[in-house]
Amino acid sequence: MVRREIDAVVVGAGFAGMYMSYLLRKEGYDVQGIEAAADVGGTWFWNRYPGARCDIPSLLYQYSWNEEIRTSWRWSEKYATQPEILAYANHCADLLDIRPLYRFQTRVTKAEWDEAADRWLVDTDKGEALSARYLVMATGALSVPKEPDFPGLDRFKGPQPVTGRWPHEGVDFKGKRVAVVGTGSSAIQSLPHIAADAAQVYVFQRTPNFSLPALNAPIPDEEREAFEAAWPLYKQAIDTGEPGVEMLPEDWEPSDEELAEHVKVLWNGGGLVSTVMIPRLTKDERINEAACEFVRSQIRAQVNDPVLAEKLSPRSFPISTKRACVDTDYYVTYNRENVTLVDLNEGAIVEVTEKGIRTTNAEYEVDVIVWALGFDAMTGALTRVDIRGKDGTPLKDAWHGGPAMWKGMMVAGFPNLFTITGPGSPSVLMNVILAGEHNVEFIADVIDRMREQGETRVEVSEAAQEAWVDHVRREAEATLFPRANSWYMGANIPGKPRVMLPYVGIDYKKRLNQNVAAGFPGLMFEG
Ligand code: FAD
Ligand code: NAP
Repeated sequence: MVRREIDAVVVGAGFAGMYMSYLLRKEGYDVQGIEAAADVGGTWFWNRYPGARCDIPSLLYQYSWNEEIRTSWRWSEKYATQPEILAYANHCADLLDIRPLYRFQTRVTKAEWDEAADRWLVDTDKGEALSARYLVMATGALSVPKEPDFPGLDRFKGPQPVTGRWPHEGVDFKGKRVAVVGTGSSAIQSLPHIAADAAQVYVFQRTPNFSLPALNAPIPDEEREAFEAAWPLYKQAIDTGEPGVEMLPEDWEPSDEELAEHVKVLWNGGGLVSTVMIPRLTKDERINEAACEFVRSQIRAQVNDPVLAEKLSPRSFPISTKRACVDTDYYVTYNRENVTLVDLNEGAIVEVTEKGIRTTNAEYEVDVIVWALGFDAMTGALTRVDIRGKDGTPLKDAWHGGPAMWKGMMVAGFPNLFTITGPGSPSVLMNVILAGEHNVEFIADVIDRMREQGETRVEVSEAAQEAWVDHVRREAEATLFPRANSWYMGANIPGKPRVMLPYVGIDYKKRLNQNVAAGFPGLMFEG
């Protein structure tokens, strides 16, 4: 087989992949991008369900590295909609002239390390065979939807859209009876929109979630100007890893009254950012419970039926140990006559029938089933590719007991392979576009150093990897995160090892900068 020889393959054309491909091309490398979707955008290409928006304010949820892009784009609302974010991704692709670098509608299926040549042999589902010095998996932390696996799925005659790969032509809910299964962010964002159209909606809830009000609105000019004035400081904070906003001290010890007063920050328009404004929220039980109780009190205030309000009130995990949701009108939607909560704790789903969904208590007849079951997060897109490192070891086997890797970017035994926002990096615990930038820039630094030194191979040492995995584990154990059955812990996918996947430490970017400045300790260069 003739393999086309290039410098780098970048898999994925989301924000991370586009930046990686752009940077490598700019530095003069021969890059081939590969993307399963028909166009750029990643998450925002696939997740077209009604109500999809960012949960980080739009002014922050954008590339920080390119002034031309930043100053040529104007976000309309505090939390941009999916179509607007996708339009922004297209704007970036246009300005960066990124599309000529990519093969779209093409999936990487296999990547095998060629030990003799220090190259990756990469295969796609379109029969393309490549040989590349570097392989960068910018495949997304939330890009593999969790598929429904209930018996009888094929019997149901109506549409069964999955939120994570929503049909481009949309789904008609007008006058229909609809089942929404799941109550994570995707369901919480889409429910008010579906309920506004549908005749009847049944929401199948296994675990209630904490949701904070978006208080979404057009961005006033004064806010835009204030943001612009503060931008140099934000950018400095992004690049140095400093907090960027003034915070209460980490050793804050409020009285119960002060605490009760302070947690109201959650309801005052700060969204997820406000969770950061509560020191030790994910470490201190008293502080966390005060925040939980405050949110529950708001649910009680919004939902007319007290029994229903209690069913919607999370009690089984500390707030923020699952990603909190940011919604518009989620809780009040349950006051509508056409919305019914089906509490799966009172009767689990048994099967999908020709007419709908049967639980142990009843059959719910519907015309459409919306599956909002989440994602095989952080590892799913990597383990779905047959990646084989030194000695032909499959990545899946190397990660049998959990994903061991260094700083979410490199795996011992897999030279010249880089991942972005992988396990052991802050990834989904921060603004993920910025998390991607941090990784892309580090990887570009490593590759540049290799060119300067005439090296052909880089691998993280077992010792450095073990030390990092151990550090990530210890940091997580010092928090409340392990108490939740969350996708952060791999708990949403049966059989997935229970490991805290993202890194909870707040010093990650500083550590990356130190590593670059010190000449990449922990990495072994050869060639
Ligand atoms: P992605 O955007 O996931 O792109 C990865 C791409 O890789 C995909 O297009 C996929 O098709 C492609 N790919 C994967 N495997 C292969 C393969 N084998 N071959 C070829 N192509 C492949 N984060 C925030 O910080 N704030 C938010 O508000 C926010 N909202 C979100 C809302 C939703 C509904 C979801 C699902 C996630 C959200 N996230 C949010 C996280 C979001 O994933 C990131 O913010 C960001 O868009 C990720 O960019 P990325 O380039 O790393 O990955
Ligand atoms: P999710 O948070 O994992 O929620 C999945 C839901 O499906 C949960 O309620 C889960 O219940 C339920 N579920 C899964 N399997 C089930 C089963 N077999 N039977 C019954 N219920 C089942 O997924 P998501 O809503 O797609 O969100 C994932 C992440 O994507 C978010 O945390 C966030 O990071 C990102 N996101 C962000 C936004 C945004 O606001 N910008 C929007 C969407 C997604 P359990 O809790 O009991 O497991």
